[in-house]
Amino acid sequence: MQRFRIPNFSFSPVLALLPGLMLLGAFNVDGPISTFQLLVSALMILVGGVWAGLKSSRSLTQTTPHPQPKTQVDISLASAILDALPDPVLLLDKRRHVVASNRAANALLGEGVHGRDVCLTLRHPDAQNAVKTALDGKPSKDNIEIIFDSPVRRVYQLQVMNIPKEASNTVRAVVALHDLTTLKHVEDMRADFVANVSHELRSPLSSLTGFIETLQTTAKDDAKARERFLSVMDGETSRMARLIEDLLSLSRIEVKEHIRPTARVNLSDILATVAQSVELRAAQKGMSIDIHMDNDLPPISGDTDQLHQVLQNLIDNAVTYGAEKTTVNVSLKTLKVFAGTDTPGVKISVENFGEGISEEHLARLTERFYRVDKGRSRAMGGTGLGLAIVKHIVNRHRGHLLIDSELGKGSVFSVHLPAIS
Ligand code: ADP
Repeated sequence: MQRFRIPNFSFSPVLALLPGLMLLGAFNVDGPISTFQLLVSALMILVGGVWAGLKSSRSLTQTTPHPQPKTQVDISLASAILDALPDPVLLLDKRRHVVASNRAANALLGEGVHGRDVCLTLRHPDAQNAVKTALDGKPSKDNIEIIFDSPVRRVYQLQVMNIPKEASNTVRAVVALHDLTTLKHVEDMRADFVANVSHELRSPLSSLTGFIETLQTTAKDDAKARERFLSVMDGETSRMARLIEDLLSLSRIEVKEHIRPTARVNLSDILATVAQSVELRAAQKGMSIDIHMDNDLPPISGDTDQLHQVLQNLIDNAVTYGAEKTTVNVSLKTLKVFAGTDTPGVKISVENFGEGISEEHLARLTERFYRVDKGRSRAMGGTGLGLAIVKHIVNRHRGHLLIDSELGKGSVFSVHLPAIS
């Protein structure tokens, strides 16, 4: 008979589950639940559940020879669950001491955090106030940002929540940290991007406004000046059109960046077309384009228009930044193995001779609007987006872009692409 008896839950252990369930319900009223809210609810349900389980099994203590102490069950079970969470989480006792910390917290704050006053680790005054407020049982601010400067700068959002006495007799508060570093970085980049685009458009626009004004007033009857100004205005409007075209192109590529192109492409044909289109400009600088293609190039899957853009941008740059009367070497070579895989690949190289690029600029060349010499790039009609476009297209093709340069000698831009496997 005893075996089939419905467990004899007393009223208070069931109550222990309630704060968590109620909290979960309350959070859900006004919209989506955050990870932290879920975590706290789960933790309260868990701690309450463990307590309920222990309490209901207390009636069986006569048959259980060595019941585990409640605190030990609370902490070790909670720790195991917390370890599965990607965000750092700390459980505090009423003296602010850390009684449990998950793996992510130990990685961020060090193993030594365990057993210490949390305020010795989180020294930010807002963090310390939040801990105090939560331990006093009051709701704390939920938009606290704290910065860890070492070993690299990281920004975390901190949330502290009280755990009621009825739910646990050890854990009094939960501290959760959420890494905002990437988000902040993206926000900064977006702000920089808008500022850069406005700046890039503002200068040709103000130059156009100036010329229009002059043509309407002082140069009204000056045919020679009018011709000169109109030619400069033509150059400025083309620059704005190129900039807008490049921006649109970049956003189109980004939208599809996660989808690897599947069509079979013929790199040799693409290269021949691009070389032909750049030849005239090269000849104007007394430059020649020398092409070498391996015969046994493996097949590549790609987007013909985008790979055309890659070659166009790289060869255009080689002609723009290469010294007069030099040669631009372009080659398509077979790679026996692509970046440590067992698939072959193709290496596209574009080499030019000239000033070269000093090392500190190399890593930043593919950032939007990054130029070694702004004035020179603008004077040459550059938008500062060409290499950013190349990088995103290469990423979409699951390839790599490598840049080698030596000051006073020249530069080699190489793109490695995997073959169809
Ligand atoms: P831009 O429109 O200014 O050429 P890119 O994104 O194509 O923009 O290139 C960014 C910067 O990288 C250029 O402004 C230039 O300073 C440098 N750069 C690009 N290609 C070369 C090259 N082949 N040789 C020397 N510098 C280069």
